[in-house]
Amino acid sequence: MAVLDEVEKLITRLAPDAICDDCITEKLNLSVRQHANHKTRELAGTHGFTRAKDECSICGSTKLVIRHKR
Ligand SMILES: [Zn+2]
Repeated sequence: MAVLDEVEKLITRLAPDAICDDCITEKLNLSVRQHANHKTRELAGTHGFTRAKDECSICGSTKLVIRHKR
């Protein structure tokens, strides 16, 4: 499965909770932090995905997170 699909699936599964790029990287075992960053940027603004500074539901830090709104 393509990384983008995995990222999309993970975020959709967590909805309406938000997740940060670092937690996506960790959860999906992505090699580079930049990787998740690219994917979430690609997803933001499409199919109800939004990126904003908010609390991550996994690590609890307030940073740039992405969430899916149904
Ligand atoms: Zn996090």
